[in-house]
Amino acid sequence: MRKPIALVTRIDRSDELAWAALLAKLLPESEILPFHAMDDEQRNAAEITIVANPDPRDVAALPNLAWIHSLWAGVERLVAELGEAAPAIVRLEDPELGRVMAEAVLAWTYYLQRDMPAYRRQQQTATWRQHAYRRPGDLTVGILGMGLLGKAAAGRLNGAGFRVSGWARSPQPVEGVDMMDGPDGLDRLLRTSDIVVSLLPLTHETRGLIDAGRLATMKAGAQLINFSRGQIIVDGDLLAALDAGHIAHAVLDVFETEPLPPTSPYWQHDSVTVLPHISAPTDRNTAARIVADNIKHYYATGSLPTAIDIRRGY
Ligand code: NAP
Repeated sequence: MRKPIALVTRIDRSDELAWAALLAKLLPESEILPFHAMDDEQRNAAEITIVANPDPRDVAALPNLAWIHSLWAGVERLVAELGEAAPAIVRLEDPELGRVMAEAVLAWTYYLQRDMPAYRRQQQTATWRQHAYRRPGDLTVGILGMGLLGKAAAGRLNGAGFRVSGWARSPQPVEGVDMMDGPDGLDRLLRTSDIVVSLLPLTHETRGLIDAGRLATMKAGAQLINFSRGQIIVDGDLLAALDAGHIAHAVLDVFETEPLPPTSPYWQHDSVTVLPHISAPTDRNTAARIVADNIKHYYATGSLPTAIDIRRGY
């Protein structure tokens, strides 16, 4: 008999039940048990846990874990809460998530390229005014973070005719993308991009990366899209750059505190589009299949899927 697999979440109970049912269907030889339904013997036996925003105390109550599989792509909170002593953490790497994020990046890049924020403002004052058309090929979109999501977004933007620059931690070629790395690379990307998109994970290196100095480096009238984590941008500095008109518009899907508090100045700001963390929702069907395949592969070979580097933070 296989050891039970613990499902540890702090998500809606009906969502948890739906994940449990789907995973049980895809892993018929395993017993998938929600943490709260496990007795001490089952908790001691579990060597794999599947998690979605788990309470770290629940994970700590599984003393014999070999590894943790996240149902989500972003594992920032998990890493912060479990610390460096955590068992190996495998995050969700789903090409469907890349496709959905790339679609969102393209959609909101078009929103900015076609001056939608200006037309929205004009409608409020019944103003009929046409702005000059800007061709995609005349605009450079700079992507911060060229991992699974950044590469997928770059491909879609390239296909739509935009010029694309990318910034990663390590030097690497990406077809059709002007790739940069290091502090000088960041500086160059910010100076030369008309639209900057953040797809960076939140780590000790990226927290507060987009501050007053980096915003000042950006082109006058540049626009910003943040689809990764709110803490990458210093909110007060961005608001000041928007108020000064140096940054023309920001599309923000992620925030330091979510849901975004009603008192946040972002809600009422004319140059900000607030989205409720919807740029790339996990697809339960494709995600559950990937998780199940990783677990089956582990049982068949004894080898773990590639885990994140806990010290690096992603
Ligand atoms: P990933 O595959 O791990 O890629 C991360 C990229 O960021 C890599 O290119 C990495 O460089 C780069 N990077 C990391 N630290 C850096 C640093 N200090 N300086 C320069 N580049 C750095 O991650 P992903 O799957 O693309 O996801 C990225 C993030 O998107 C997640 O962590 C999560 O926060 C967010 N996300 C948001 C949503 C949403 O709905 N809004 C949904 C899913 C994910 P190297 O290539 O050199 O390693």
